[in-house]
Parts: sequence; structure tokens; C-alpha cells
Amino acid sequence: MLSIIEIYRSIQGESSFSGMPCTFVRLAGCNLRCSWCDSEYTFSGGKKMSPEEVAADVQRLSPRGLVEITGGEPLLQERALLPLVEYLLANGYQVLLETSGERSLDLVPRRVHKIVDVKCPQSGEGGTFRLENLHTLTANDEIKFVIAGREDYEFARSFTRNHRLDEKAGSIIFSPAFRKEATGSRDASHCLVDPRELAEWIVADGLNVRLGLQIHKFIWDPATKGV
Ligand code: SF4
Repeated sequence: MLSIIEIYRSIQGESSFSGMPCTFVRLAGCNLRCSWCDSEYTFSGGKKMSPEEVAADVQRLSPRGLVEITGGEPLLQERALLPLVEYLLANGYQVLLETSGERSLDLVPRRVHKIVDVKCPQSGEGGTFRLENLHTLTANDEIKFVIAGREDYEFARSFTRNHRLDEKAGSIIFSPAFRKEATGSRDASHCLVDPRELAEWIVADGLNVRLGLQIHKFIWDPATKGV
């Protein structure tokens, strides 16, 4: 059985699919505690559902298209999750998997589009990335750094260069962290590093990376869940 927080349809907000309609399956539980985490409501609880029940809900929301598996950390439930992923792939869905990078990706089917975090120092979870996961990446996959300040940026820049990430993944995303208590205005004032400043650093250093903005936080109130 899977432990599910929510299944809903919205707009994909933070990858190369940003802006595309997408069905989200959010799983409960995480073994990390990132300082800026906006998903603390996933840390406990969850409704027990079989992979078949989850698939039926996904099909009811959309008979085709993008499905993102997220959390929490979905790979904490890998044994029950993989049959769901296989079913969705076999039925023509394009499957995205958001993961912290701390769990092994060895068993994730290569057709899954992985969006893999590398935690930066200011998250409080630096050093948790499993380096062996680099060998599982393909041109379909994305590496994401959530950046809360200059220290994080310099870490992400070094990691990108030292591990030649542009030869391993299809996209490398540098994304400003959002204040987790952010609410009200839908603008960049909630970002822990100014997107303009981050853009200037990227350009000045000649990095071949994508500046990512969590567009759902600019479309809806940043505190809104289920979007
Ligand atoms: S890995 Fe994701 S869900 Fe877990 S604490 Fe970090 S941001 Fe939150």
C-alpha cells in the first residue's frame, strides 16, 4: 500500500515542463528536514491506497499526459511505488519523479523523467546527495539546486563543474529558495536569493544552467496547497 497525501491536477511549476498541465501524486513521509521546506505537511499522515486505487484516481483526473510523483520523498515507498510507475508508463503517461537525491535511483525505470535535487549547505541537508546516482542520469533527467544564498550558489557552481553535470543530465536548474512562511503577494520578494542576482551570477560565470522559478508560487498565493 502507498501512503498518499493528495492527488490533484494543476500546472507543473519547476522543471523543463514548467507551465504544462500535470497530475500530481504526493506521497507522505520524508527522511530529510530542509530548512526552507514547503511540504512539511507531508511529514506525517497520509491515506493508505493501493497502486491500483492511485492509478484509478489519476485516470479519472486525466486519461493521458504528465503525471508527477512527488512528496515528501517518494522513494521511501519504492516497493509499492514502482508497480504504479510501471502501470502509468504502460498506459502512455509521461512520468516525472521528484526526489531529494538521497535515495538510490538504481531501480527507477529509465523512461521515468527524474528531477533530482542536490541539497545545498544552507538547506541544512548538504552532503546527503548519493553520488552513485549520477550514473543513473540520462538526457531525460534534470538536476535541481535550490539556492538560498551565495554559499549555496558557489556550492552548486562547483558541483556542476566538478561532476560535469551538463554531460550527464538534460537540464540543470538553479532555483531560488522561497521563505517557507511566504504568503500574500505573488512576487519575488519571498525568494531567499533575488532571482535577478542569481541570474547575474549565472551569466557572469558563464554557466550553462537554467534559472528556475517555482511558477505556481507566482500564479497562486505562495501558501496555497494542492496547486
Ligand atoms: S526533501 Fe523535500 S520534502 Fe523532504 S524536507 Fe527537503 S524539501 Fe521537504
